[in-house]
Amino acid sequence: MSERSQDDVQPTPPVQPVQAVRGVKDVLPDEAPNWQFLEKTCREWFARYGFDEIRVPIFEATGLFARSIGEDTDIVGKEMYTFDDKSGQSLSLRPEGTAGVIRAYIQSGLQREALVRLYYQGPMFRHERPQAGRLRQFHQIGAEVLGSESPLADAEVLVLTADLFQALGLDGLQLEINSIGCRECRPRYTVALRGFLEGRAADLCENCVRRTATNPLRVLDCKVETCRTHTAAAPFIPDHLCAACADHFAVVRGQLEAAGVGFVVNPRMVRGLDYYTRTAFEWTSDRLGAQSTVAAGGRYDRLVEQLGGQARPGIGFALGVERLLLLMETRPATPPDLFVVLAGEGAEAALAPVLRAVRGAGLKVDRAYGGSMKSQMKRAGKSGAPRCLIAGDDELARGTAVLRDMVAHSQREVPLAEVVAALK
Ligand code: ATP
Ligand code: MG
Repeated sequence: MSERSQDDVQPTPPVQPVQAVRGVKDVLPDEAPNWQFLEKTCREWFARYGFDEIRVPIFEATGLFARSIGEDTDIVGKEMYTFDDKSGQSLSLRPEGTAGVIRAYIQSGLQREALVRLYYQGPMFRHERPQAGRLRQFHQIGAEVLGSESPLADAEVLVLTADLFQALGLDGLQLEINSIGCRECRPRYTVALRGFLEGRAADLCENCVRRTATNPLRVLDCKVETCRTHTAAAPFIPDHLCAACADHFAVVRGQLEAAGVGFVVNPRMVRGLDYYTRTAFEWTSDRLGAQSTVAAGGRYDRLVEQLGGQARPGIGFALGVERLLLLMETRPATPPDLFVVLAGEGAEAALAPVLRAVRGAGLKVDRAYGGSMKSQMKRAGKSGAPRCLIAGDDELARGTAVLRDMVAHSQREVPLAEVVAALK
């Protein structure tokens, strides 16, 4: 092989376009209006129910999630993005919002207040198999009520979610509720359930056999079809609640009925996180295939203590933004109010203060940066702006511009100083 036989120009290898990693998604400009509508609607409804926003970090010490969500959950056991940072500390990207919010509630001293209502929003991270409605970075909007054990708080959180979905135009969602008891009644129930499951170990998946020993409630949550059929006759929690939990659950149901919020009791719903007590709930859709749950939550009366805070009961929920958006009609982007067509540098200078004034008056203005009048007019048409301001040389000489109504196809000449008034 001859050396340097082609020492002139080597062909440049094709540059591979950069790509996002699997399971994450961009929100492109055409999707942004839907996101904004969802976020704005949530903020409005949270405010109406007396919630304040809290923003917490997207990573925390790994131990926080292990202690709150539970070591034996799918989230902590399999799904967390955990890494050692440069100082050797184990950190995890948050897989959900509640743990961080409670950490902040304890650390900030908010726990000293009798009742605190908080909401949050932002990305969550779970290493799951990507598919429709299941991402590795996804977004939740969630809320927590801290300081009340009352079933009225549970009911109000549920009514809030119902109002929210109605405001988002989502009818056809189903609310499922359950009570998973407290530390009085759950241990007794767990013994009964374990007894049942031990007799059926041969029919259960490997995971469920293990969970029968470690966390039998989780078996009811298993997605394997045969596990579900073989546990159809299992003892269910609502039949094993202590009197206090049974009363609590009855008030929640009664209040939902009073508020006109429909629901069904799903006695096998246990939720995937260990910290729940009493009320557990899910909002589901039958239009999302396997990823049917759009929002979920429940009561967690021991979590604050468990994380080293004072004994403070709480209830909260989180909704999955991407899944909800799959159910919502696409909202078109709002077009600009005005498109400006400028003849050249002189027009730029003359119109500069006018453009600032128009935008200062709250109007959306679109424009090109140069190009022929004809090409700018073409873009004005495409932009969807109902009006167009055309600053040609003749008009500029008179200190005016042409204001064209793109819908009526009419136009008139307006002095530059009166453009803002003419647009109003
Ligand atoms: P699933 O059973 O579907 O895995 P989950 O019980 O793990 O849900 P939660 O931890 O309760 O979910 O989170 C609340 C909501 O967040 C879910 O109802 C769903 O809408 C959304 N969500 C959870 N995981 C994902 C994900 N990987 N991608 C997109 N959305 C998700
Ligand atoms: Mg999950």
